[in-house]
Amino acid sequence: MGEVLILVDHVDGKLRKTTAELLTIARRLGEPSAVHIGPGAETAQVTLAKYGASKVYVFDDEAALKNLVAPQAEVLAAVAAKTSPVAVLIPSNTAGKEIAARLAVKTESGLITDAVDVQAGEGGPVANQSVFAGSYTVKSQVTKGAAIIAVKPNSTAIEAAPAAGAVEKVEVTLSDLATAAPITDRQPKAKSGRPELTEAQIVVSGGRGTGGDFSPVEAFADSLGAAVGASRAAVDAGWYPHSNQVGQTGKQVSPQLYVAAGISGAIQHRAGMQTSKTIIAINKDEEAPIFELVDFGVVGDLFNVLPQATDEVKKR
Ligand code: FAD
Repeated sequence: MGEVLILVDHVDGKLRKTTAELLTIARRLGEPSAVHIGPGAETAQVTLAKYGASKVYVFDDEAALKNLVAPQAEVLAAVAAKTSPVAVLIPSNTAGKEIAARLAVKTESGLITDAVDVQAGEGGPVANQSVFAGSYTVKSQVTKGAAIIAVKPNSTAIEAAPAAGAVEKVEVTLSDLATAAPITDRQPKAKSGRPELTEAQIVVSGGRGTGGDFSPVEAFADSLGAAVGASRAAVDAGWYPHSNQVGQTGKQVSPQLYVAAGISGAIQHRAGMQTSKTIIAINKDEEAPIFELVDFGVVGDLFNVLPQATDEVKKR
């Protein structure tokens, strides 16, 4: 069994759960190794070993994270050149997809993005790939080089499997090009105490139907420990921040449960949420297009339905 590299997804050394998801998949395909770029590898290593990383390649030069994604692609390419992996798994988020694309060019390998499942197959890993903004799922396989696969967060149930977690330092001299786009400023997000939108197991979103009053949406989300999303109409009206927008020009989410309240279900909104496992909509209009894709629909006023649902959840 060859090595399978996963890119560790972390914020200042604090692991995001995508990392454990990627390791769970990696174990099905071969010998899982994690590539940790940036600080915090010592503390992360214990968690990485818990989820099956038999080896952790560490590149802790801070230049790697002080620039946009190019250094991460260079480090991954260097580790791939050394290990000839069967596959490289990367989170399918905005940064991850760019890293994956750059890595594919550097290694002259095929690339699959938006995978929602990956299994071992004859001739290499086979991915279930979400295409046309989640309208279809197709089976895809890389036929050239190591399979580089960007996997959507929340698509895999995490399984723990203790492993060695041995650390190996990686020496890479970053090119001038890799450090040509330094990050000059970071805007810290306002702390809401709610989970990160793209990582949350449950997302409750509000649209124009809220009329700008998101309090029932937030109360229901909090009763479930969910993240809050918003349609573009709500964001454009200035009712909710753009960082919470779900859709084609917002974030793509794939939670276990997605609740759309006062959202009509335009194609651009669907593009960000239709791979959710279970979808519930609350809408006054029984003809609203969102009802075409839901598992459960409630025809009603969100200002009546959501408070009742919140009370019911709180009783349990
Ligand atoms: P509406 O379409 O106005 O729907 C509001 C719904 O609320 C209606 O169905 C109504 O019946 C219901 N309603 C009203 N009052 C209540 C009530 N009290 N209780 C229950 N239901 C009620 N949109 C996105 O969301 N994300 C994107 O990323 C995105 N990207 C776009 C990119 C492009 C290039 C373009 C052209 C558009 C994009 N849009 C995006 C916009 C998209 O086309 C829709 O305009 C938008 O999604 C509509 O938002 P909405 O459903 O909240 O509003």
